Amino acid sequence: MTDQPQDAPACAVCSTTMTFSFSDSEAGYYLCGNCDYLTPVVHGLDARELNDSIYSEAFDHRLEEAGKLTDRKRRKYAHFLTRIAPYRQNNRILDIGCGAGRLLRVAAEHDWEAFGVDPAMQKLSVETPDHVTVIPELLNKAGFEPDFFDVVHANEVFEHIDNPVDLVEDILAVLRPGGLLVFRTPNHSSWTAKAVGQSWRHFNVRKVGHVGFFSPKSARHLLNNLGFDKVTIATHHFSLRDRWPGKTPGIGLLLRLGYRGVGQVARFLDRGERMTVYGQVGRQRADASTTRG
Ligand SMILES: [Zn+2]
Repeated sequence: MTDQPQDAPACAVCSTTMTFSFSDSEAGYYLCGNCDYLTPVVHGLDARELNDSIYSEAFDHRLEEAGKLTDRKRRKYAHFLTRIAPYRQNNRILDIGCGAGRLLRVAAEHDWEAFGVDPAMQKLSVETPDHVTVIPELLNKAGFEPDFFDVVHANEVFEHIDNPVDLVEDILAVLRPGGLLVFRTPNHSSWTAKAVGQSWRHFNVRKVGHVGFFSPKSARHLLNNLGFDKVTIATHHFSLRDRWPGKTPGIGLLLRLGYRGVGQVARFLDRGERMTVYGQVGRQRADASTTRG
């Protein structure tokens, strides 16, 4: 049974009562009319337990892959490190949900002091090089001092948690004034999501553990309300593969070119499927408890 509209939850970003949007076989999805945050509601589902079980399986399976760095990944991380270089002051970077610490390894090669947190790493022992520290805990249990980091990065984290305000407050506790938060998460207002509807792979809550969806609007709302001054958003990517999976003989290349073309336009209009959010903490930090809502 999926939820009925009268069970409408309060938005985890802005506390507004959400509106029923659609349901699939597992969940009712509710949208916030104020900030555009989208969330599935499943009775009796604990987001943390669900993701623990998903990641215990995924991590065994990905164990061998965990420490590997391809040239492509290395170039991607190096490009990211160039982009964040202007924020370098304390010389410390944190990666939330770091896994085996691939980004951290490249950061250490660029002379950063690199730290990662990831509770899933309790199940893994991975050797880390000098200047890389991986703590197998949630951020709020990791014991970092205030204002410790110049940059906090989180890839594929925000869609797995049901209280993003708490997470951003935990980040603010360790990010220095003027520091940078970068998070990457699927864009539910992307053309891909709109075009493929319920087939969007990110909606499969019990399989993928995604319990909260942002658009550029909700991401901005979250960070602006919690004391970030400058928020910039970049999106890219378009595909209809979730709707029509598998290979289409003969027109595969044409499709790819088509997707790429649409993806370029989507990027320009903030409608790309993959979203990166950059938020710089104000130098005069607001008190988060008074800016909620
Ligand atoms: Zn909201």
